[in-house]
Amino acid sequence: MSEPLMATYRRLPVAFARGEGVWLWDTEGRRYLDALSGIAVCGLGHAHPAVRDALCEQAGVLLHTSNLYRITEQERLGAMLTAQAGMERVFFANSGAEANEAAIKLARLHAHRQGIENPAILVMENSFHGRTLATLSATGNRKVQAGFEPLVQGFVRVPYNDIAAIETAASNRPNIVAILVEPIQGEGGIRIPAADYGERLRALCDRHGWLLICDEIQTGMGRTGRFFGHDHSGAAPDVVTLAKGLANGVPIGACLARGAAAEVLGPGTHGSTFGGNPLVCRAARAVLDTMAADDLIANAETQGAYLLQGFRERLAEVPGVVEVRGRGLMLGIELDRPCADLVALALAAGLLINVTAERVVRLLPPLILERPEADQLLDQLGELIERFLRDA
Ligand SMILES: *Cc1c(COP(=O)(O)O)cnc(C)c1O
Repeated sequence: MSEPLMATYRRLPVAFARGEGVWLWDTEGRRYLDALSGIAVCGLGHAHPAVRDALCEQAGVLLHTSNLYRITEQERLGAMLTAQAGMERVFFANSGAEANEAAIKLARLHAHRQGIENPAILVMENSFHGRTLATLSATGNRKVQAGFEPLVQGFVRVPYNDIAAIETAASNRPNIVAILVEPIQGEGGIRIPAADYGERLRALCDRHGWLLICDEIQTGMGRTGRFFGHDHSGAAPDVVTLAKGLANGVPIGACLARGAAAEVLGPGTHGSTFGGNPLVCRAARAVLDTMAADDLIANAETQGAYLLQGFRERLAEVPGVVEVRGRGLMLGIELDRPCADLVALALAAGLLINVTAERVVRLLPPLILERPEADQLLDQLGELIERFLRDA
C-alpha cells in the first residue's frame, strides 16, 4: 500500500480514520490517546467544531485568490497575530521551514542594506529549523544535513545555552548579524535553557546590533503555558517564526517582525503562491479565537504543571530515568538509554507519544487536555517506561 510513497518516513503500521478532541480512532476502530497532537499541531485537538465551521464556511465562500490582491482574511489574521506578538508586520508562508526561510532572507537583506556583504547568522547545536536547504544548514543535527552538501553558507554554530560561546564567536566573526534560536529546543530533546538566557541573548543582540530571531514553531501558540516560549523571559525578539499549531492542521507558517526588521522585505523580495490564503487564515483565526475564549494557554500551564509533577513523582525512584523536564504541555522524559522502541509499545497500549534525540520521550498533548486524560497519560506511560527500563 505504501509503495507509491517515497520512503522519507519509517511509518508505524497504523492509520487513523477519525479523531475527536484528544482521541484518535484507527481504521480498525481502536481508540488512542493522542499525546503528540501531530507534533504540536492540533492544539485544539481533533475535529474541533470551531475550526470545522470556519473551514466549511470559508470553503463555501472563497479558497484562494492570490497575493497579487488584498486578502481580507490575511489582513484580519495579521492584525490579530501582530497585536498578540507585539510585532508590527507578518509574512505568511505554508510551513515552519518556510517561515524560517523568510526570517533568514530578512536577516540577510537587512545586513546587505547596511553594507555587510557576507552576513552570518548564529545558530545552535542540537537545534532544528526545518528540511529546506537553508533551514537544514541552520539545523544543528548532522543526520539532517548528511548527503545534502554543499550546505548553505552563512551560519555560525555555538552550543545552546552558552552565552560565553556567543561572545567568543562575536569577537572572531565581525559579520554576524543575527541569532536564530528556539526558546526551548524541541527536536533537540526538550532542552530548556537557563532562566536568564533570553535576556542575555537580547542584551548581546542590542550590544552588537544583531537581530534576535526566535523560532517559535514548536514552542509558540500556547504550547509552553504562555503564548510564546520567549514570553517566559523578559526578552522580546525582533523576529518570530510560527507554524505548527497556528491553524490546527491546515498548513501555514508566519514570520513576524518589529522595528527596522519589519520594514526589510518589500515588493519583489519574497513571496508565496499559497501563503496566507483565505482558507488557512480563516482557520488560524478560529484557533486564536478559541484559545482566548476557552483559556487554553492557562489550561496548558495547569495541565502541564500537573503532568510534570506527576511524572517526577512517579518516576523519581525508577533507575534509568535521567530527568523529567518541561514547560506547559511540552514535556520530555530523558532516559539513560535509546528508547525509540517505546513508541511502538505505547501505540500497542493505545497511546501516541514520540521519542526524540534518541533517549527523550517527548509529549506534546493538545492544549485542551483535561485532568482525567492527564491521569491516564501518567498511569499508562509511567507504567510503560518502568516496564521498558526493567526489561531493556
Ligand atoms: C517543526 C519545526 C520546524 C519545521 O517546520 P515544518 O513545518 O516541518 O517545515 C522548524 N523549527 C522548529 C523549532 C520545529 O519544531
